[in-house]
Amino acid sequence: MTEYSMLINGQAVSTSETFPVLNPATEQVIAHSPKATQQHLDDAVAAARAAFPAWSATSSDERKAIIHKIADRIEENMGELAQLLSMEQGKPMEGFAGLGAGFELGGCLAWIRYTAELETPVEVIQDNDDARIEVHRKALGVVGSITPWNYPLLITFWHIIPGLRTGNTIVTKPSEYTPLTVLRAMHLISDLLPPGVLNVVTGMGDVGAGISAHSDINKIVFTGSTATGKRIMEASACNLKRLTLELGGNDAAIVLPDTDIAAAAGKIFATAMINNGQTCAALKRLYVHEDIYDDMCNALAAIASSVTTGPASENPDFGPIQNKMQFDKVCALAEDAKAAGATFMTGGAPLDRPGYFFPVTIVRDIEEQTRLVQEEPFGPILPVIKFSDVEDALARANNSSSGLGGSVWSSDLEKAQALAARLECGTAWVNNHAMIQPDAPFGGVKQSGFGVEFGSYGLEEYTSIQTMQIAKG
Ligand code: NDP
Repeated sequence: MTEYSMLINGQAVSTSETFPVLNPATEQVIAHSPKATQQHLDDAVAAARAAFPAWSATSSDERKAIIHKIADRIEENMGELAQLLSMEQGKPMEGFAGLGAGFELGGCLAWIRYTAELETPVEVIQDNDDARIEVHRKALGVVGSITPWNYPLLITFWHIIPGLRTGNTIVTKPSEYTPLTVLRAMHLISDLLPPGVLNVVTGMGDVGAGISAHSDINKIVFTGSTATGKRIMEASACNLKRLTLELGGNDAAIVLPDTDIAAAAGKIFATAMINNGQTCAALKRLYVHEDIYDDMCNALAAIASSVTTGPASENPDFGPIQNKMQFDKVCALAEDAKAAGATFMTGGAPLDRPGYFFPVTIVRDIEEQTRLVQEEPFGPILPVIKFSDVEDALARANNSSSGLGGSVWSSDLEKAQALAARLECGTAWVNNHAMIQPDAPFGGVKQSGFGVEFGSYGLEEYTSIQTMQIAKG
């Protein structure tokens, strides 16, 4: 079995204690990951702190060039990283609509290269005989990054690249379920950066808690559950850390009666089931007008019946759910919906084989108060809810403590946009969902968190403003 080590101050660091990492398709141990102690975390933070003055003083062009080299190095090793990702995360190499492990690696390259080109220019807001006033963007210091298991490598790069680009140093912690690809990738790029600029520690939630409470970390960027986000916020108060919290959601979509079902059903299916439904911005509650309800349910069920779920070796459309905790949650929500009298058009029960396999499941005739509608399933199961009044559908869509994304589907773009603007969420789509890109800011409202990632807005989150006032005369 391959030995995995952490990266602290440019060195590979092993630990006496380790924890097993499973392949969710087989439930077999594929490797052991190091288990960091508080001392390892302190060492990583001290290394990042020591590296900060020199790294933040490098020129913007130097950092840009290094980040392009990081992208090149990842590209040279894409095949190996995608295989490892597929093994520990469960996603197929290709997958439905080509959205598997290869897609995640391609996303890494797109985001790294786009972010490398971004700048934080000095803004001059006054320059006259009295004074020149400039607004500068300065790096914050040490950034702690805590990432989840659904897109382990992509989200790590979302966190660390804007941090590095703006001159911060990093301590990142992957999820205990999926540490291997991140460890391998960080070692692959470590020689491109001065020691201490990028550190990775692995362990369980207590390592994340240690990062949140560390008095020498200046900012946390976190992607994961709302419950953990609240704990991080509390712990971060100790030294008033800056926070970016991306906490997932329970995204609603409203399908108006003039929607072209043939055109929309495929997109709705793909954006609900992307990454086996384990996507923060996936479509999770589908409200369909009664005039087209049966047709839309039938169209979705037809697609669901045509796809395959299985291990990567079978080249399926969808893989297993990533871990037992999430698998149990999806099973429980399905059972609850059945008990509540909902109709299962496809799927509904785990596959009878080893691994955390749950087939793609379309549920209709489901009431608003059912847990499957109220709670984020984060798996391959979609409730389709009937509505007759648009205002009622909007009220139900907004009646949620989360607000990451939302969408409206219609052949009348103007009408759809007017309705989408009334959705309480960070991104509103018209005739699409879950589409993100490196230049468009992405983040949530309400309990989906705060702060944005991507593009210039995302870059600024890794900086503080220094206003420079130069008196004249
Ligand atoms: P968590 O939020 O617990 O895990 C995300 C990251 O936070 C992991 O690296 C985890 O470490 C770390 N962590 C755990 N406890 C703490 C803590 N006290 N302080 C700091 N960091 C901590 O998510 P789960 O894996 O438990 O998933 C639960 C739910 O979260 C899912 O059902 C889904 O609804 C949602 N989710 C949302 C995601 C998104 O993209 N927004 C991604 C994943 C899950 P470790 O794994 O080692 O415990």
